[in-house]
Amino acid sequence: MNTSTMITVTSPLLPDIEEFHELLKEVWNNKWITNNGSFHRRLEAALAEYLKVPYVSLFTNGTLPLLTALQALRITGEVITTPYSFVATTHSIWWNGCRPVFVDIDPATGGIDPDCIEAAITPKTTAIMPVHVYGKPCKTKEIQAIADKYGLKVIYDAAHAFGVEVEGESILNAGDMSTLSFHATKVYNTVEGGALVMHDEKTKQRIDNLKNFGFTGETTVIAPGINGKMDEIRSAYGLLNLRQVDAAIEARHQVAIRYREALRPVKGISFWDDMPGVRHNYSYFPIFVNAEEYGMTRDELYFHMKEQGVLGRRYFYPLISEFSTYRGLPSSTRENLPNAYKMADTVICLPMHHVLSDVDIKRILDCVVK
Ligand SMILES: *Cc1c(COP(=O)(O)O)cnc(C)c1O
Repeated sequence: MNTSTMITVTSPLLPDIEEFHELLKEVWNNKWITNNGSFHRRLEAALAEYLKVPYVSLFTNGTLPLLTALQALRITGEVITTPYSFVATTHSIWWNGCRPVFVDIDPATGGIDPDCIEAAITPKTTAIMPVHVYGKPCKTKEIQAIADKYGLKVIYDAAHAFGVEVEGESILNAGDMSTLSFHATKVYNTVEGGALVMHDEKTKQRIDNLKNFGFTGETTVIAPGINGKMDEIRSAYGLLNLRQVDAAIEARHQVAIRYREALRPVKGISFWDDMPGVRHNYSYFPIFVNAEEYGMTRDELYFHMKEQGVLGRRYFYPLISEFSTYRGLPSSTRENLPNAYKMADTVICLPMHHVLSDVDIKRILDCVVK
C-alpha cells in the first residue's frame, strides 16, 4: 500500500490563478482594498442571487457572524443549542455572556431534536441556535413553531449549508438569521470568510454597521460593534469561486454516489441517503460504525485508515459539551444527550472534495470495505 501520499479529508476550491491576477489588477487600480469596496458589494449581490436570499452581509470569517447575530438580536440569558457541532457555535453564545443549554439531537438528521427543546426552556431562555450539521436541513418548521410559542429568536449556524435548498427554497431563509462560513475547508471558500443572511433591509443595515465598529457615519457610533469586514482581495477571490462552486458540488455528488454504492452492502456501516426534495451540497460524507456488526470499533477503523494514509475526521467528536469550559453545565450530562453521544462515538467523515480521483476513492473504500 502506497502511503506516501496522504488523502486529506478536504481540498480547497481554488480560483484560476490567471483570472485572479486580472481581478487583483483591478483592485490595485482602484486603490481601494477594504471597507465596502466594489468587489465586496459585487460579492454580496452575487451571493444573494446564487443563494436565493434577500440580503447577505459579508464577514471576515464564519465565527463573527454568529457573535454579531446574537449581539444584533440582543440575546441574553440562556440559548438552547446542540452539542453536536464545531466549537464556534457554543463559543459565540459564551462570548456574548449567555449560557448555552444543550439539548439532544435527532438521529435522523444530526440536528437539534425539536421534541427536546420545550423541556429545556426556562424564563431566561431567549433564543435557539440550531446547526444544519453536514448541510442536512434541521426540522425548521417544528423549531419555528416552538420559537413562536415562547417568543424566542432562532439563529441558524448554517456554516455547512451553503447552497442547500428544500423544495427549491434556500434553507438560509429559515429563522431570524443564518450564518455561513467560507473557510478554506468548506464547500465554498474565500480563504477565510463568512456571511450573515437576513430577511430585511433594516437588519442588513444594522449588521453592516455592527461589523464596522458600530459606525453609521463619520462621527456616529450607535452600538459596541466589531471589526468583521471582508477585504477586496478575498471578495474578488470569492467572486471567482462562486462561478465554479456548482461544478465542485456536482463532483462531490459523484463521490457520494460511489461511496454509497460500495458501502451499502457493508454490514455495520451506515450512512445517509439524499433527502427527498432537498438540494444537498455534499459538504461531508459521515459514516457510522456499529462495532459489533462491523467487527471493529470506530476508532480502530479511524486509525486503520490513518495508517493507510487516508485521513478521515471524527466530526463531531468529542461533543462541545465535553470541552472543559462547558462540561460542568447541568445540560452537559450523558443522560441528557444520549443520541449526541452515540453519534459522536460512531462517526467518521470520509474524505470528501471536488478533486478526489478514482484511485483515491478506491484507496479510501479499500480501507472500509472488507
Ligand atoms: C466552520 C464552522 C464555523 C466557523 O467558521 P470559521 O469560518 O472557521 O470561523 C462555525 N460553525 C460550524 C458548524 C462550522 O463548521
